[in-house]
Amino acid sequence: MRLTRRTVMAAGAGAAGLLAAPAVFGQGRPHVVVIGGGAGGASVARGLALASAGAIEVTLVEANPRYTTCFFSNLYLGGLRPIESLQFSYDGLTAAGVTVIHDLATGIDRGARTVALAGGAVLGYDRLVLAPGIDFVEGAVPGWTLDQADVMPHAYKAGPQTDLLRRMVEAMPEGGLFVMVAPPNPYRCPPAPYERACMIAHLLTQTNPTAKIMILDPKDRYSKQTLFENGWLKHYGGMIEWVNPEFGGADVEVRPETMEVLIEGEAQPVDVCNVIPAQKAGRIAEIAGVTDDSGWAPIRPDSLRSAIDPMVWVLGDAAQAAEMPKSAVAAHSQAGVVVASLLGELTGASVPPPLFVNTCWSALAPGDSIKLGGAYAPGYDRITQTGSFISRPDETEDERRLTYEEAFAWYDTLTAEIFG
Ligand SMILES: Cc1cc2nc3c(=O)[nH]c(=O)nc-3n(C[C@H](O)[C@H](O)[C@H](O)COP(=O)(O)OP(=O)(O)OC[C@H]3O[C@@H](n4cnc5c(N)ncnc54)[C@H](O)[C@@H]3O)c2cc1C
Repeated sequence: MRLTRRTVMAAGAGAAGLLAAPAVFGQGRPHVVVIGGGAGGASVARGLALASAGAIEVTLVEANPRYTTCFFSNLYLGGLRPIESLQFSYDGLTAAGVTVIHDLATGIDRGARTVALAGGAVLGYDRLVLAPGIDFVEGAVPGWTLDQADVMPHAYKAGPQTDLLRRMVEAMPEGGLFVMVAPPNPYRCPPAPYERACMIAHLLTQTNPTAKIMILDPKDRYSKQTLFENGWLKHYGGMIEWVNPEFGGADVEVRPETMEVLIEGEAQPVDVCNVIPAQKAGRIAEIAGVTDDSGWAPIRPDSLRSAIDPMVWVLGDAAQAAEMPKSAVAAHSQAGVVVASLLGELTGASVPPPLFVNTCWSALAPGDSIKLGGAYAPGYDRITQTGSFISRPDETEDERRLTYEEAFAWYDTLTAEIFG
C-alpha cells in the first residue's frame, strides 16, 4: 500500500511538515527522501531542490542538528583548526527549499516505499536516496566494541569522539605512548589515519616531545606512503613508528579495561589507544536490504542507482564505488551525478554523461601538505579510474605551502557547496 496524505498524517506529528505537498507520484510533485545529511546526502538534497526549482519535493532525514566534518578533523587534533570551524547547520538547505527532519531513520519498507523514523513518523517516497556514511564491523578488533569508544575512541565519525581523542592526547603522561589500530581496506578516506599521526605528532612535539606514536596496521601498503614517511622523518624524527603485518600489525587485540594492546599476544601498555575498526555501509542501508555480503551497497556505475532496487540511489561512503575512494570530494562529485539522474527520471531532463573526480589533501605539518587525486568514469559494471595525480617527493617548500593553502580554500568551497 502506498502512503496517502491521511496515513502520513496519522503516523505522527513529526511528519506534519511534509504534508504541504502530496507524497504520491502522479498526484503532485514527486517526493524524494534523502537519508543522511553529510557530504553526499546534503549535496544531493540541496542540489536537487535548487535544480528542480520546486518541481520535486525534497525531504532530508538527518540524525544530528549540526554536522561536524570528518574532513579537517585531523587538523583540529593537531591544533590547527577550532572544532567550531568544522560545524555546519542545515539552515542553508532549508533556505534552498529542502524539508529537513532531524530524526533517525530506523526502518525502510521498499515495497510500500516508506521510511520509518525513531520519532514515530512514517514518510512516503517516490525515490529514496541513501547517504548514511559508515558504521563499524562488529568484532573487527578483538576486545573492542562501540561501548568502549569512550575509553579507546575511534574518532572516525567527527564530533564528541574527535574532541575526546584530542583531550586524551593532551593528558598523556610525559614520554607516553599513543597507539593507533589502523583499519583494513576499504575504509573512509584512505590517507586519514596517516595524516592523523602527523597531526598528533605535531601537537605532541610542542607539549610532550618524548612521547611516541605507534600505528598497528593490517595492511602491507597504504595511501601516499612514501610521502607520509618522508614527512614523518622530516618533521617528527623518530616519533612515529609504523608496524606492518610482518611485525604484528595485523595480529592485534585490545584490552580497554587495563589500557593494553596485545601485539601477536604480547601485552603492550598504552596511554591513548585510537581504534579505527573495519567499516561497512551505514546501518540503515543494511536495514533497507540494499547492501551485499561485502557490507557495502552495490550501485550502477553510471548513476549510483542501487543495483538491488531501481527506486533507490546510494552514494558516498556507503556505496560500492569500486576504484573511487571513500571521501567527501568523491561523495560530493557523486551527488552531482545522482541529482542529474533523479532530474532525468522525475522531470524528463536530459542527463549529461557522469563525471566523477576526487582529490584528497593531507597535512604533514603546518604549511606542508600533499595531495592525491583522480578522475573516474563508469565502466561496464563498476566505476573505474581514468587518470590520477600525486604530489612528488621532491617538491619545494613553496610548492608544499601552496598545496597547504589550496586545501584550506578547498575546504571553504566544498562546505559552501554542500551546506549553502
Ligand atoms: C579523520 C578523517 C579525515 C578525513 N579527511 C578527508 C579529506 O581531507 N578529504 C575528503 O574528501 N574526505 C575526508 N574524509 C572522508 C569524508 O569525511 C567522508 O568520506 C564523507 O564524509 C562521506 O560522506 P557521506 O555523505 O557518505 O557520509 P557522512 O558525511 O558521514 O554523512 C552521513 C550522515 O548520515 C547521517 N545518518 C546516518 N544514518 C542515519 C539514519 N539512519 N538516519 C538519519 N541520519 C543518518 C549521519 O548522522 C551523517 O550526518 C575524512 C574522514 C575522516 C574520518
